[in-house]
Amino acid sequence: MNAPNILSLKSDAAARRQLLKGFAAVSLPVREILSAVVDGEELSETDAVTLFSAEGPDLDALIATADFIRERAVGNQASFVITRNINYTNVCYMGCKFCGFAKRKDDEDAEFLRLEEIAKRAEEAWNRGATEVCIQGGLHPDIDGTFYREILKAIKARVPAMHIHAFSPFEIWFGALKSKVSVAEFIQDLIDHGLGSMPGTAAEILDVEIRQQLTRDKLTTEQWVEIITTAHQLGLPTTATIMYGHIDSPEHWAAHIGKIRDIQKQTGGFTEFVPLGFVHYESPLYVENGDVRPGPTPEENIRMHAVSRLMLNGWVDNIQASWVKMGPEYAQQMLRSGANDLGGTLMNESISRAAGGKNGQEIVPEDMVRMIAEAGRQPVRRNTLYDVVQAYDYQPARSAPNLIARASACSLELIATTGGAA
Ligand code: SF4
Repeated sequence: MNAPNILSLKSDAAARRQLLKGFAAVSLPVREILSAVVDGEELSETDAVTLFSAEGPDLDALIATADFIRERAVGNQASFVITRNINYTNVCYMGCKFCGFAKRKDDEDAEFLRLEEIAKRAEEAWNRGATEVCIQGGLHPDIDGTFYREILKAIKARVPAMHIHAFSPFEIWFGALKSKVSVAEFIQDLIDHGLGSMPGTAAEILDVEIRQQLTRDKLTTEQWVEIITTAHQLGLPTTATIMYGHIDSPEHWAAHIGKIRDIQKQTGGFTEFVPLGFVHYESPLYVENGDVRPGPTPEENIRMHAVSRLMLNGWVDNIQASWVKMGPEYAQQMLRSGANDLGGTLMNESISRAAGGKNGQEIVPEDMVRMIAEAGRQPVRRNTLYDVVQAYDYQPARSAPNLIARASACSLELIATTGGAA
């Protein structure tokens, strides 16, 4: 074990003193909660719920504390990955109510990419510097269980070194069902054919009642947890996500993040946590139901990233801000509220756009670098597993405008939130 770095211990103590000094106007309960986190205590779900309603000086202190804990966990670097999203089919009959992505086979805009086309897109991505392809799609009734393996084989035959980040727990559940094998056997076969990691999407909110309403309970909380933990036990890393801002509440958010933390304590298999705001525009859940919220407010986005950072402190180091859901400017602001990653360049992304999201085609690497530098972080390009591939020496011409202050002051309408795909 390395000896502790005296200089960094001293600067941490000085930063801690500075932070706590700024808590003068903060309410006593919030001050106590934040001070305890700074001193290394685990944030309970009950205290997380309190922080989810922080306003004014309490919200400022929450942001500052999340930023402090982020710096302590991962330093000043913030990252992105060059990746291409390939949504191989939008045909799906699962009927998740929040999903604006799924089509019927006969719909005019139904899509089903051939293996050759998927491999071609992966090769194009490789030639443009991508280290990863992210493959997800609907649960097309005509595909059989071997289709998932065939995708991996087609890509690996064309670009052997490409990292394949693919198949949500919903697709894994579907593939195992179609193949008539256990989830463990199905995942192991995919690993044997080149699967490098799995997106932890389809989590939505890991709460029985909420999930019943969102997905008609087709993939239960228990099944999601089982598939994810099985992947981890087989040595396959995954991400973790939450989709928030619809029929959910802070109690659900705290319990969801608590569940992610519990899994991580058990398996250590999560690479990152990605808050995904609900995109309401063309989502049936919103269109057909007057009680559904149109996605999170700007303050809720800030609190979600900040509280995630605090709750997962010591367990999941990487908190990703989704520019696809929030828009680039708000995602950039999340780098000052606990997040340390901007996700992927994407090249194309059809899920959020299908739900009416206004973002979601591509951000080129140069713009990722600029956005990170403007937020005051050192830009780095990473691979899927968060190894640094390239560090950039970039001096921004300007600092990013502080949308956080504007959001706190005036409740702007938020640009974003979620679509679907498994
Ligand atoms: S979220 Fe996924 S599984 Fe659900 S309907 Fe949409 S594409 Fe199908």
